[in-house]
Amino acid sequence: MKLESVRGMRDILPEEAVLWQRLEGEIRALFALYGYKEIRPPVVEPAELFARGVGEATDIVHKEMYVFPDKKGQMLALRPEATASVVRAYIEHGLYAKGDLAKLYYLGPMFRYEKPQKGRQRQFHQYGVEALGSLDPALDAEVIDLAWHLMERVGLSREGLFLRLNSIGCREDRPAYREALRAHFSARREELCADCQRRLAENPLRILDCKEPQCQEAIAAAPKSLDYLCPSCRAHFEELLSLLGDLGLAYTLDPRLVRGIDYYTRTVFELCSRELGAQDALLGGGRYDDLVEVLGGPPTPGVGFAGGMERLVLVLSQRQPLDAAAPDLDAYVVPIGAEARRKALELLAQLRRRGVAADLDYLGRSLRKAMSVAARRARYALLLGPDELAQGRLTLKDLRTGQSSSLFLGEFLANPRAFLA
Ligand code: AMP
Repeated sequence: MKLESVRGMRDILPEEAVLWQRLEGEIRALFALYGYKEIRPPVVEPAELFARGVGEATDIVHKEMYVFPDKKGQMLALRPEATASVVRAYIEHGLYAKGDLAKLYYLGPMFRYEKPQKGRQRQFHQYGVEALGSLDPALDAEVIDLAWHLMERVGLSREGLFLRLNSIGCREDRPAYREALRAHFSARREELCADCQRRLAENPLRILDCKEPQCQEAIAAAPKSLDYLCPSCRAHFEELLSLLGDLGLAYTLDPRLVRGIDYYTRTVFELCSRELGAQDALLGGGRYDDLVEVLGGPPTPGVGFAGGMERLVLVLSQRQPLDAAAPDLDAYVVPIGAEARRKALELLAQLRRRGVAADLDYLGRSLRKAMSVAARRARYALLLGPDELAQGRLTLKDLRTGQSSSLFLGEFLANPRAFLA
């Protein structure tokens, strides 16, 4: 049997990993600017966490979750998302007891058994923030500002993006809205796909997530959640819109946007790319004011978002193809002769301790071949031959200009950066 990676789970090879590292660095730095601290929950959780948090009737839990028993028969899941995990950790470690707002962020792999396609994998990576402890619409605005800011920071212009925004109200508003949806879809039951007929009984809100062409007409005519908001949810939403206006952040009201997860309340949003085709959502989020309580903690509102790393990498590499040939080293050490090689190994160790990215040939290449590797991988070649050894020197060759200079080893090592511009 030929061993290959599992369908929908891919290797991120070194040339692409460079872009991932840059993005992860930008994301961490930006989250820190907004006062978020990293949390790293485990990848495996009790399956029940997601059944209760994300919702039994969601596609994520109902169809896509990787669930398996451990050796004692406890049902575990590979996490399909991280909000439920972060909230579990928040409750388990009593983070609410500090009486402060908890601002947490995470980065890491998630797992969903979906149909793999462009922008959709079975193992994918999310970055996300969660702010727990305040109902202030200014926090919703901050999270949306952070989402826009992140895209600007990684180099995506506002023109190529749009924000879909909606409010789906609180749990008091939900029964009336759910009944309105149930009445609407029951009357058009015959038009709905088999999944939506099930959703009609379980949670008609989930019908609004359906992508099946046959359901779209009924969905387009469905009642809008904005028409079912209580005065407090309406005021919250209006304040959010006004704050977004103050911050100059564009949005498009989308009455169909409910997001495929049960825990959302009030604000929901998605930041989408015009360049991605069907899977256009770069990130999505909203409020989840009941989730902490549902998972066994004290009533605590929350708001956050999660974005897909793969989709960010996709838009960015569509614009600027990955450069596999980019030099990755400052210096390539090229010894000539066995004695010089011993000295070169010592030089290499010292250079690396001084923060210089350096390497040499381990494949017994000829001088000519070693120089061609140097030209491809590094900015400078450091040549060590019998003459250099005898004089305690090395030859520094600038591989861009072709210029060489002879330096004393001691002088060079005292401050190599001064010579490696
Ligand atoms: P969700 O957790 O479903 O709200 O998704 C948040 C974001 O994660 C989406 O906007 C996507 O960017 C990304 N995402 C979700 N599912 C996948 C997947 N199967 N493959 C790649 N990215 C995904």
